Amino acid sequence: MPEKPHLLQIGSVTDRMRSRFEAEFTVHILFDQPDRAAFLAQMGRQIEAVATDGHWGVPDDVMAALPNLKVVSSYGVGYDAIDADGVAAKGILVAHTPDVLNDEVANTAIMLWLAVSRNLIPADRWVRSGDWEAKGNMPLAQSVQNRTVGIVGFGRIGQTIADRAAMFDARVLYHARSEKDVPQEYYADLTEMARASDVLICITPGGAATRHLINADVIDALGPDGILINVARGSVVDEAALVTALSEGRLGGAGLDVFEAEPKVPDALKQMDNVVLTPHIGSATVETRQAMGDLTCDNLSQFLKDGTVLTPVPECRGLM
Ligand code: NAP
Repeated sequence: MPEKPHLLQIGSVTDRMRSRFEAEFTVHILFDQPDRAAFLAQMGRQIEAVATDGHWGVPDDVMAALPNLKVVSSYGVGYDAIDADGVAAKGILVAHTPDVLNDEVANTAIMLWLAVSRNLIPADRWVRSGDWEAKGNMPLAQSVQNRTVGIVGFGRIGQTIADRAAMFDARVLYHARSEKDVPQEYYADLTEMARASDVLICITPGGAATRHLINADVIDALGPDGILINVARGSVVDEAALVTALSEGRLGGAGLDVFEAEPKVPDALKQMDNVVLTPHIGSATVETRQAMGDLTCDNLSQFLKDGTVLTPVPECRGLM
């Protein structure tokens, strides 16, 4: 039997993914190697495929040690941790997992908005602490009905969020690099959109182009009654400016799934009742992670079959 091609696994995978990798590849797990440099020096030339995720990408030392790498399959839609242009220039295909997580991430965004707006976490605490019995009813919350919702990033997930927001009779605005042929209102100027919005939901890619897109000016435009939801990447929001605005009452509240230095979260945010924090769980359900895992494996299987992948990142489409 011919030797199976060698695959380097970076980050953790499910058992189901591991079984599929092992059926087609000789699998090496980067983080199991006691001496990473020695392992890369010894095995690097044999590795033709990498399986990774949106958090780890392909670190520079790993990429430099894999001269025969042909394909990278990433378990996630966001690939800002991979230098896609640089990798594509070397003729290496990069695949990701778009679409299969649109509903889940949109649901997470809406869950955070509802939780912040309706004071879900303080309400739960009110019951558990005995405050309900001792103090009576809680102060009133803010409705999610009939709000103006500004969506920053209007791609696959952003448009799915818009569909969800319509169920609350929202007026939906959006900001993206380009205007789309959609009924929602386009704002080329993000600060202007924030000024018009009650809720701003961020769902752009991360990376240099979107770093601190949500800055102090945007936050001030959203204002003391406004709510910021971030399910994009931590880098998209200027976290220091966000913390300052929240602590000075210049922003009404925030729902945050992603942070600048995950898993570190500023202590100040943890103290705030008008902030809901989740540990990057946008797509983290059994069902959606299974679909993402299957697509990660399907991309590799397809590559072995005919040298293409099912869902390449845009930078690599020219390679197929
Ligand atoms: P997508 O379909 O590629 O949509 C991205 C949108 O962002 C597009 O509308 C794009 O504008 C816009 N955009 C890109 N760069 C921009 C910039 N510099 N300024 C303004 N808008 C910009 O991607 P998707 O599938 O919806 O995923 C979006 C992102 O969500 C991922 O890249 C990832 O970072 C994040 N995400 C997070 C989680 C989580 O667990 N929290 C899970 C999944 C995804 P154009 O339409 O004009 O090109």
